[in-house]
Amino acid sequence: MPAKKTTKQAAPETLPEPRRSVAFIGSECYPFVKTGGLGDVMYALPRALTKLNCDVKVILPRYRCIPQKYQDKMVYRGEFMMDLTLDGRQFYVGIMEMVMDGVVYDFIDNEEFFSWGNPYTDLVEDIPKYCFFGKAALAALNYMDWIPDIIHCHDWQAGLVPVYLRTLFADTPVSRAKSIITIHNLRFQGIYSVSHIQYWSGLPDYVFDHAHLRMGDNGANMFKGGLAYSDLITTVSATYADEIQTGFYGENLDDHLRYHREKLHGIVNGIDVDIWNSSTDKLLAAPYDAKTVLKEKKANKLALQERLGLEQDENKIVLGLISRLTDQKGLDLVNAVFPELLDGNTQVVILGTGDRQYEDAFRYYESVNKGTVCAYIAYDESLAHQIYAGADALLVPSLFEPCGLTQLIAMRYGTVPIVRETGGLKDTVEPYNEYTGGGNGFTFDRYEAGLLLDAVIRAKTVYFTARERWDAIVVRDMEKDVSWDLSARQYRELYLKLKP
Ligand code: ADP
Repeated sequence: MPAKKTTKQAAPETLPEPRRSVAFIGSECYPFVKTGGLGDVMYALPRALTKLNCDVKVILPRYRCIPQKYQDKMVYRGEFMMDLTLDGRQFYVGIMEMVMDGVVYDFIDNEEFFSWGNPYTDLVEDIPKYCFFGKAALAALNYMDWIPDIIHCHDWQAGLVPVYLRTLFADTPVSRAKSIITIHNLRFQGIYSVSHIQYWSGLPDYVFDHAHLRMGDNGANMFKGGLAYSDLITTVSATYADEIQTGFYGENLDDHLRYHREKLHGIVNGIDVDIWNSSTDKLLAAPYDAKTVLKEKKANKLALQERLGLEQDENKIVLGLISRLTDQKGLDLVNAVFPELLDGNTQVVILGTGDRQYEDAFRYYESVNKGTVCAYIAYDESLAHQIYAGADALLVPSLFEPCGLTQLIAMRYGTVPIVRETGGLKDTVEPYNEYTGGGNGFTFDRYEAGLLLDAVIRAKTVYFTARERWDAIVVRDMEKDVSWDLSARQYRELYLKLKP
């Protein structure tokens, strides 16, 4: 039946030309396995790229800890034996495949390497594991006869991929691809002795020189090799791209990165706005949008307080913190001023796991402030959603932060970020301006506990004495574009630059 004349037909979305094929290679990807922001990016960026006419395959290890419901959906795609070590030991490579929302996921199967409960154990285990994974990923592309335009590698676990591509795979079909490596966190590099990495990777002597993998006298660095051999390097914010070329943030690779700076680009992360959507989020007590946030946030706050055993009072300001509990995240600053954060009108909710010293310190503060402080020492996706919705402000005082996703999610949920001006925090949170009332959050620059406290006090002053200004920040934050749209376009531009 022909459409009625009055019905407006949505114009078919025109995809940008030309089409590009990309293989993502990395060690974690939501919802299969996620320990941090890398897992979010490996999920969301491929999906955003498919909307920009990219054909994306994501190659991951098939860890035993991937939930059974996903394991059940994988189909067998093939298998082969691959030599790996210097003495030519052969290893089984299985390929299991799954398609979800237009993205193809290929899982590299090998029980010897991937049968642990966690993706990461310790370097002794992880170095052989990711030598195997990097080589198996390229061998799998050849095996499947799927040669992408671009191979996009993520963090040190995929560091050897660009190295393999230009050495042991140089005469194979996959070498037609160009490579990009993205630095999600420079702190972790995959460093071990030359003999160990050379044994497990089977790579030739010449890659272990100072321009490529060598660190110091006898060390080899997988990430350093990947940065040297890739055609382009990206990192997850423009500020972090500058910072890592300095001694303070460079993690001993600042000179290497300065040498390669012509190929280094900063592209800020987005978040998946379907997963992080407060108006459809089934985990929330009261879903809301920018029009209803001021009312419904209170309902979410009361529900959060009830769930966590805090005093139920919508007038208290609730400060949230959702983080790995490690030195990177500025927790020594939080620890140092913790008693001063509390003033009778403030509650603090911490969700995280990590270093024992922080877990114990936050548990202690909970024990002496029952009803006011909650230290929830766990990894809990649903509680994370409820904190983003129920808290008024989110603390992110990081020592360094390549991009940071928690401040983006917070803004999307109308929770005002209080951040240190570093890396992606600096690029995504515009400081509140008391003269114009503009800005997205409260910020401080030097890494000092007193400055964190000062930023919290400034935030509380606006919250308690100029609520209409606070509310304007909340609404502005919810309306800020934190999606992948723009950033995915920037990645596509780089892909086209490599393969016009
Ligand atoms: P990083 O990758 O350095 O850990 P990011 O800010 O880039 O930090 O990403 C952290 C991601 O992990 C966010 O999606 C955040 O919500 C989530 N997250 C961190 N800790 C927890 C936790 N304990 N429970 C649930 N989610 C968490």
